[in-house]
Amino acid sequence: MSHTTAYCYDPFNLRHHLAGHPENRERLRGTWSLLQSEGALEGLLGVPSTPASDERLLRVHGRRHLQTVTLAAQRNAHLDPDTYVGGDSELAARLAAGGLLNVVDAVLAGQATNGFALVRPPGHHATPDRGMGFCLYNNVAIAARAAQAEQGLKRVLIVDFDVHHGNGTQDAFYDDGSVLFFSTHQYPYYPGTGHWRETGSGAGKGATVNVPMPAGVGDAGYFEAFDTVLAPIARRFRPQFILVSAGYDAHWNDPLAGMALTIHGYAGLVDRLLALADEQCGGRIIFTLEGGYHLEVLAHSVLNTLRQLSRSDEPISDPLGPCPWGEHDASAVLTQVRVMHLE
Ligand code: ZN
Repeated sequence: MSHTTAYCYDPFNLRHHLAGHPENRERLRGTWSLLQSEGALEGLLGVPSTPASDERLLRVHGRRHLQTVTLAAQRNAHLDPDTYVGGDSELAARLAAGGLLNVVDAVLAGQATNGFALVRPPGHHATPDRGMGFCLYNNVAIAARAAQAEQGLKRVLIVDFDVHHGNGTQDAFYDDGSVLFFSTHQYPYYPGTGHWRETGSGAGKGATVNVPMPAGVGDAGYFEAFDTVLAPIARRFRPQFILVSAGYDAHWNDPLAGMALTIHGYAGLVDRLLALADEQCGGRIIFTLEGGYHLEVLAHSVLNTLRQLSRSDEPISDPLGPCPWGEHDASAVLTQVRVMHLE
């Protein structure tokens, strides 16, 4: 098969919106507009977004949670102070999960090598029982479960480089050794979970790998985390498929967080993930959009990731440039994590 990158995008996802909220429709609208003007999607495989079925959502979420989201949409209610649900939000969330599922189906059916789901609302904070942190349904967890239940995959790796800990994804697989969850995140920070001592339980012991980093860590610290923690753990696990919770809010200029990654740094992480996918699972890797609240950073980072996925020759686009201040050291926590997981 020639190299093909699949993506999904549905303008209905823009109808989940609250003016003035950081997770608003301008994130996706601006990103889409840059991808169009750069011609970044030419030659890629666009797959439709269809609403995820109850059956597929219920592999991760309880029925009560689905009812809660539906009811909140009818009432224009918040699930928590951060998490708005408007009249179109339940369908938007189903389309977000369903779009990602269609990209997964395209890759696992061999129609595409890899992919990117341009979706919102994001998902990684949504636990099996509740939505929180701007997230209604846990897109990446639903996709991992579908790959297992429908395609028979035994080992799925989820990498979460969003600046916030993916507590919902962790919860979904905490006692399950068949899904390895690796997360880098600012710590202590929202949502408060993700200490390196949280490593899974029962059959899942060791299959949750948290890299909680102090504020101010940048490209060097992230590269070290990926090279000295993620890579050896992934090689030991031997994933058949890799999903990435791609949040671009660890950038030094992100308004919500305090890390020091650059756009080039994000591209460096993506390079490492693509190499790992090539080495471990025939290049089968799919990114799904999570956070990222600086609109220009988000748009250019997604552009770069798509170019990298599709093996474009275009250079990395980084209008923000290097971090203007020095980055903090991550070696102490990385040593702790290596001792916990690799020794
Ligand atoms: Zn985030």
